Amino acid sequence: MPTTSPSMTDVLDAARLIAPHLPRTPMWSYPVLDGRLGVRTLVKHENTQPTGAFKVRGGINLLARMPEGQRAAGVLTYSTGNHAQSIAYAARLFGVPCTVVMPENPNPAKVAAVEALGALVEVKGATMVEAGEYAAGVAKDRGNRLVSPADDAALISGVATLYLEMLSDHPDLDAIFVPVGAGTGAAGACLVAKAVAPRCRVIGVQSSQAPAAHDSWRAGELVRRPMRTAADGLATGSAYPLPQGIMRRDLDGFALVTDDEIRAAQRLLLTEAHTLSELAGAAALAALVAAKDEFAGRTVGIVCSGANAGPAELGLLLPAA
Ligand SMILES: *Cc1c(COP(=O)(O)O)cnc(C)c1O
Repeated sequence: MPTTSPSMTDVLDAARLIAPHLPRTPMWSYPVLDGRLGVRTLVKHENTQPTGAFKVRGGINLLARMPEGQRAAGVLTYSTGNHAQSIAYAARLFGVPCTVVMPENPNPAKVAAVEALGALVEVKGATMVEAGEYAAGVAKDRGNRLVSPADDAALISGVATLYLEMLSDHPDLDAIFVPVGAGTGAAGACLVAKAVAPRCRVIGVQSSQAPAAHDSWRAGELVRRPMRTAADGLATGSAYPLPQGIMRRDLDGFALVTDDEIRAAQRLLLTEAHTLSELAGAAALAALVAAKDEFAGRTVGIVCSGANAGPAELGLLLPAA
């Protein structure tokens, strides 16, 4: 069951809780990129996080707030990617035992990354939905705290600190583009923008090859959609009630981009911003490229949300010369 929507006070608490563990990430602009787009573009570099993605902000906030008495019982979550690394990283930081359930045929590199953080990986279920059902059952049996990939106020207020950093450094931003999978990042952006920069538009971005969050937001109800995107971080087949509720209230727009457009933006980040991004981490730039005429002469923030590109993705990014 979703917890209740976090408040700006929760975001400020989260900023205080994560500060000892995560330095503020840089936000840079790149003149050649600005010139090509005709937009002053500020890139928030979450690719520099220790786990290679922004989600670790949520994981640390969640574990930091966990009552002392619950810690020994451990946490259990289900994920294939960056959420798993976030929870495993935070659990190690606070000395909490951690189990991650991954659906069958997981990416071996991701299994290795989670295990290297000291978490136990269990492979179960054909899909994320089945992995989640299994996870709920064993968490109950073993007395672990079950951590949802998105329906948790501590995850949303934790990742919202990214937007607190962005908008306190640059309250003049006309818009921010936020990549959306489950929607915690976009929900966090909405909370912060509403409170500290109400004129700044918050625009979600998803792949048209996995549009469950986008379609749910437009429909005003939770819908399922096929998942055919190569962008791991954006690949969710269903929508999550807690972030969707916040987005429904405060999100200003929601763009869809194709995987090809995302791949082109991933190359642009590499060549013009000397930044290695994973596909999901380039979606915000892809949406800005598509909307550059609308934002001509404006100042726009985009999030490079992660850098965990696997070997197959890297091969396509750098075709043999
Ligand atoms: C998870 C993830 C996203 C999407 O974030 P949500 O909070 O699930 O919407 C975007 N980019 C990367 C790199 C991610 O790992």
